Amino acid sequence: MSLLSPLTEIKSVGPELAKKFATLGIRTVSDAIHYYPRGYDDFSHVQEIRHVKPGMVTIKATVKQAKGRYVRRGMHVTEAVASDETGSVRLVWFNQPYRAASFKPHAEYYISGEFALRRQRLSIQNPSIELVSEFPVNTARIVPVYRETKGLKSQQIRKVLRSCIPDIRGLEETLPAWVVKQQSLMARAEAVEMMHFPVSPQALEKAKRRLGFEEVFQLTLAALLNKYELLKEYAVQIPFDEQLAKDFVGHLPFTLTDAQKKAVWQIYLDMQKPQPMNRLLEGDVGSGKTVVATMAAAMALQRDFQVAFMAPTEILARQHAETIHELLEPLGMAERLSLLVGGLKPAQKKAAHAKISSGHIGLIIGTHALIQEKVDMHRLGLVIVDEQHRFGVEQRKVLQKKAGHMPHVLNMTATPIPRSLALTLYGEMDISVIDTKPAGRKSIVTSIKSPNSRKQLYEALDKELEAGRQMFVVTPLISESDLFPAASAEEVYAALSRGAFKHRRIGLLHGKMKAGEKDMVMQKFVRHELDILVSTTVIEVGVNVPNATVMLIENAERFGLAQIHQLRGRVGRSNHQGYCYLMMGDSSEPSRRLRALEQTNDGFKLAELDLEIRGPGAIYGTMQHGQLDLRVAKLTDTKLIADARKAAQEFIDKGHNLLEYNQLYARVQEIRAVTNLN
Ligand code: ADP
Ligand code: MG
Repeated sequence: MSLLSPLTEIKSVGPELAKKFATLGIRTVSDAIHYYPRGYDDFSHVQEIRHVKPGMVTIKATVKQAKGRYVRRGMHVTEAVASDETGSVRLVWFNQPYRAASFKPHAEYYISGEFALRRQRLSIQNPSIELVSEFPVNTARIVPVYRETKGLKSQQIRKVLRSCIPDIRGLEETLPAWVVKQQSLMARAEAVEMMHFPVSPQALEKAKRRLGFEEVFQLTLAALLNKYELLKEYAVQIPFDEQLAKDFVGHLPFTLTDAQKKAVWQIYLDMQKPQPMNRLLEGDVGSGKTVVATMAAAMALQRDFQVAFMAPTEILARQHAETIHELLEPLGMAERLSLLVGGLKPAQKKAAHAKISSGHIGLIIGTHALIQEKVDMHRLGLVIVDEQHRFGVEQRKVLQKKAGHMPHVLNMTATPIPRSLALTLYGEMDISVIDTKPAGRKSIVTSIKSPNSRKQLYEALDKELEAGRQMFVVTPLISESDLFPAASAEEVYAALSRGAFKHRRIGLLHGKMKAGEKDMVMQKFVRHELDILVSTTVIEVGVNVPNATVMLIENAERFGLAQIHQLRGRVGRSNHQGYCYLMMGDSSEPSRRLRALEQTNDGFKLAELDLEIRGPGAIYGTMQHGQLDLRVAKLTDTKLIADARKAAQEFIDKGHNLLEYNQLYARVQEIRAVTNLN
């Protein structure tokens, strides 16, 4: 048997069982070996029978008097007596008729199960039972619990893994020997064995540390290699102009926060270097990223370099263009900006292209499709990417072809990612964080509502609309579904239009609508031709409607923390107080997650909490490829992450050759392929 052998090569696995394993994604020996448990039961404490008390117990005993019978139709009971030197105890199995004939007389067994009262008699119920002389996997040890599927229980998975032990023990080391030594890590083979068959809680912890370390080490290594590859490239140097920076700041109607100043400074330093900037500007909604980005753009314009600014949607591109136009106006630079989006008339587009080639226009704002535009970008110095999270080497190469060099890139995201996670996920980027909001910003009042308060809530909301404000209503679904009993945008739209808000102007927006239709509805809302916008989460990113003060989220329990936080960032963007109502699907008790939203407006705090409660998947899910998932490493384990990152840095600094480590190389290439894409 080899790692790549199909599972059916294991003696006890027939085609039927193999099919069940396949539904868990387990087809080969290697798949099985890397199918880590989701938890453990501790059956390691073997007791004398005279000491057993009700609860989960494990004993070591011989089995006698096994008898099976039907107590009624469809109900079979097997009873037996287990004895050790200190006493006897009754064993009972239900509907396992084969049991009675399966015991060897005088043989010693480990027996694990719940010792409990049943029909006025104490017995161990449905115990797992294994010969002491064999390598026990279901009893008398810390027993792994796997994600199961219909007809395939952890017991069977454990048995299959027992057959794989020789293969596990033969697993090659994947980390460089010096790393294993320096970090006192468990060998890979031992760590995998301990995941499935831990000999002690301590051994299990060491195994998890080892495997988690490896995951973070690989991710970091991939990120660093991406980073250094980029540093070999050349970018144009964009010298700092102090007078321009002063003028810009002098014309702002507010003073920059310290966090904004720091971010701008870091960006200016990067832009002066002959290597391409690759920076992530991270800041909660409303933290003031646009001003920072515009200061970067202004510096490039001042030095006669072009800037491409890409937003995820056309609406956002338009809004950015307006905001940035205003910011550049006092500097006399506004004329050098042009919007370049699909919705422009051919003549407008042609005019824009001409002005771009003549160098009259330097700042081009559009969607992510901008890099495909056939415009002359030979002076391209800076690219600003809003909400894409990752601007890959491939895309840079497209730009490099157009420009003849690599532009500096500034990525912006409003997804607050805890630092530990950001460092691991975006290790190839330098990160600037705007972690404070402008002073005097009102926080959004958030409250959880149960459905029986709906009528009252609607009355209160109508007063808000009466006062001239606008409201978002967000639902988890587009249309009615039998699979998920939850509110849909279409239903809610219909209900509000006929009922409580029939005297208001209501719009409907969802992801199945054509881009043009969506834009039109959104524009109507922006222009206050609609009072209420019922939508799915398509409005999530970036849209600015300062007059909207209410965000009502239906079936709030169905949304992620980070997602709700993003949604409520759509309101409270003016002097008016903003409100967010989290409507529960029923009157059950709201979760700790939802409660946290009531208590804090700090996106970073919420992200940390989400990470703690739901694990990194919560954040990955919204923006990442599953292939980057960490299966063992806990991102809340900051020491582990720091150690693994340090080791990866050392690997590179000392010039170790990745090609000498086959498996590490393969995995790192796999990660790089994913992180370099899109
Ligand atoms: P983000 O893009 O991070 O969501 P914006 O850049 O759109 O945030 O800023 C939100 C609002 O706050 C804008 O109206 C902007 O003019 C304003 N703003 C930005 N920085 C400051 C500041 N330092 N003080 C006061 N208001 C600010
Ligand atoms: Mg923004």
